[in-house]
Amino acid sequence: MSEKTIFQKIIDREIPAPLVYEDELVAAFNDINPQAPTHVLIVPKKVIPRVGDAEAEDQATLGALLLAAGKIADKLGVKPRDKGFRLVINHGKDAGETVPHMHVHLLAGRDLAWPPG
Ligand code: AMP
Repeated sequence: MSEKTIFQKIIDREIPAPLVYEDELVAAFNDINPQAPTHVLIVPKKVIPRVGDAEAEDQATLGALLLAAGKIADKLGVKPRDKGFRLVINHGKDAGETVPHMHVHLLAGRDLAWPPG
């Protein structure tokens, strides 16, 4: 069996990290190196290495990640349109992926430049 990813260890409570949100399919916690005042990682409990590796059977999990994002944004007070948040999924080297366990970054709390870097 391959070694657990850092995010699996957090989900399995082997590494302490307070969960911002959890349901049957996903868990969310604060990024250790935040790039904005709010920076939450939303992670599927099933290890999908990166978004492009997801398969048809992962449809419910992929949907759960976005539904969780909306709930977390609401909980953290950034859902109103006069505030706002950005979701980012990095796939592979050129996108800056560093952890091979799919995750959605939820960034908020400052003006987020567009186009992104
Ligand atoms: P990515 O570059 O898209 O793969 O994002 C990986 C993210 O995981 C980075 O923003 C890291 O700061 C974050 N990260 C790495 N280790 C931890 C950890 N132990 N707890 C929380 N966030 C982490």
